[in-house]
Amino acid sequence: MVQIKTPEQIAKMRAAGLVVAAVHAAAREAAVPGATTKDLDEVARKVIADHGATSNFLGYGGFPATICTSVNEVVVHGIPDGKTVLRDGDIISVDAGAIVDGWHGDAAFTAFVGDGHAPELVELSRVTEESMWAGIAAMRSGNRLVDVSRAIETYIRRQPKPGGGRYGIIEDYGGHGIGTEMHMDPHLLNYVSRKRGRGPKLVPGFCLAIEPMVSLGTPRTEVLADDWTVITTDGTWSSHWEHSVALTEDGPLVLTAVDGGRAKLAELGVTAAPDPLA
Ligand code: MG
Repeated sequence: MVQIKTPEQIAKMRAAGLVVAAVHAAAREAAVPGATTKDLDEVARKVIADHGATSNFLGYGGFPATICTSVNEVVVHGIPDGKTVLRDGDIISVDAGAIVDGWHGDAAFTAFVGDGHAPELVELSRVTEESMWAGIAAMRSGNRLVDVSRAIETYIRRQPKPGGGRYGIIEDYGGHGIGTEMHMDPHLLNYVSRKRGRGPKLVPGFCLAIEPMVSLGTPRTEVLADDWTVITTDGTWSSHWEHSVALTEDGPLVLTAVDGGRAKLAELGVTAAPDPLA
């Protein structure tokens, strides 16, 4: 069952989304050479507390931190710790969420630590982020869930990979419904599967966390002995981008983007819904 939200409920999710955006801004600034992933976690915890929000990651299934910090070959669910020191040249994906008044936000970004990154890493993050936006632009009334999956996959597959070969679209993880819980139906694949049908119809009130994960090599992953950290099986580096998005009567509203997705969606020829809290 998909939870369909009223405009009033979407406004509450927007409040949670803006807290997530603030966490992102602070974590991005803190992701510098010499910082530990625990430093980023502490920054995130403080921002959430300062907004009077709570963390939906801390304690989720026993997860011991406020954010996930996934460095280099770690795809998702990396656990912040005081030993992992960020180095010049690393890439880090930060996944963070917040709860306000019982409503959830969830989003992730990939950042470059220091500078001088190889063009293939810059391109990896760009392709992953743009594929997320292609999926967001497919959040249209009348479309089906599979149209979002197809938009993400098609975008990635059309991008030439520097040095040749194919990008790995991670298969074991994907997006999800979001609302009064962080992870709700439906599961959103980042590729089209013939085994899954077209999925539910997208209607106003449908909310999705759209989150492609892409590697420079394999689509396959394994989980380390800590039961959380997900790495690529071939050790290639990966990128993860995510936004929580609500479909409204007036189009998509990117709940976890400061501008509601307005600027980026305009580039794609899509008008973002007005911000209910503006
Ligand atoms: Mg998510």
